Amino acid sequence: MRIGFGYDVHRLVEGRRLILCGVEIPYELGLLGHSDADVAVHALMDAILGAFALGDIGKLFPDSDPKYKDADSMGLLRVVIERMRDEGYSLGNLDITIIAERPKLAPYIMQMRECLAGAFGCELSRVSVKATTEEGLGLAGEGIGATAIVAINNIN
Ligand code: MG
Repeated sequence: MRIGFGYDVHRLVEGRRLILCGVEIPYELGLLGHSDADVAVHALMDAILGAFALGDIGKLFPDSDPKYKDADSMGLLRVVIERMRDEGYSLGNLDITIIAERPKLAPYIMQMRECLAGAFGCELSRVSVKATTEEGLGLAGEGIGATAIVAINNIN
């Protein structure tokens, strides 16, 4: 078994869509980034790559490459999942924590889990998504952060 950890933060700005774990959330602000800025999926991809010491998503999908402008992060995740399978591994389980003062994410958590489980083709019970605030002491509404931890199993 291998484990990996990922962490990412993006700034909330006007005029962008807010997409978390592949789910579009109705809100007046969205996350700024070269891709669709799905901060939770970015943390998750870094966790998977970290489990194999394969670097990070900046190395795999450089933001200097126009190909990744406004890229669908779920599409990039599928590439990373393929890479994991090429290494002979499958998902054990994953646990994501999204850190956001606003908006309230509780109504979207199940949809996020279903979206990720669909990408892995795995049972919902292997995919955990949680959300927390930092009580106004951290990112404080300026942005959204995410951490992810994954356990992956050798299938050979
Ligand atoms: Mg990012």
